[in-house]
Amino acid sequence: MLSKVYNFILELLYPAWPSCPACGREFSSSEIGFCSECIDEIEFIGDDYCIKCGKLTENKLCLDCREQERFFSQARAVGLYDAGLKEYIKQLKYEQRQQLARPLAGLLTRYAEYYYQINRLDLITYIPIHKERLEERGFNQAYLLAKQLASELRLPIKSLLARIVDTARQSELARQERLQNLAGKFKIENQQLVKGQRILLVDDIFTTGATVNEASKLLLEAGAKDVKVITLATGMDLVR
Ligand SMILES: [Zn+2]
Ligand SMILES: [Zn+2]
Repeated sequence: MLSKVYNFILELLYPAWPSCPACGREFSSSEIGFCSECIDEIEFIGDDYCIKCGKLTENKLCLDCREQERFFSQARAVGLYDAGLKEYIKQLKYEQRQQLARPLAGLLTRYAEYYYQINRLDLITYIPIHKERLEERGFNQAYLLAKQLASELRLPIKSLLARIVDTARQSELARQERLQNLAGKFKIENQQLVKGQRILLVDDIFTTGATVNEASKLLLEAGAKDVKVITLATGMDLVR
């Protein structure tokens, strides 16, 4: 998928890593972040995406965005939750390969800079995971990504949201159940930090968007001025 965005992404400007964090192959002199083979495994979002949520579609708005109220002003993603990107996110989350957070956050940074005016953002926050899952995994992947993104964009990172009840694992639920499962599952922490802020909300995967939508709604209710979303991966529209 060759597009403006893809070419932009190839201009990654990172200090050299000795070997590819995804496949372990030693980098050649021109390779940075991921090796070129692993970059080729990613299905980057090209020029066909929903103008509201960033999901891959040939329509202006995807089905979900036509049917549901969205509280974030825009959401965008790096690539499709498939092929290489799906694999790297799984390795990061379930195989303890935290070294993947940096090159993945590098991609997030490039996309955030491409889609959003960074000087019109005040801070970065992220979707929290439940305490029990944090203990089991040892880290929150959304936090790792957000922390690196914040440092590259030179924006402050703030913890603004907390989970109030553990939700069943999203991937194990059917679409309709997923949409219902998120109602009232977050609360605002540090409300005084939210007022008047233009927030960039980070998560790893955008599926139906129910998670980031709920979080955006709470942030706006707590006085945020605007919420934009950036995720690594997104889905495909149900109608083409
Ligand atoms: Zn590689
Ligand atoms: Zn959409």
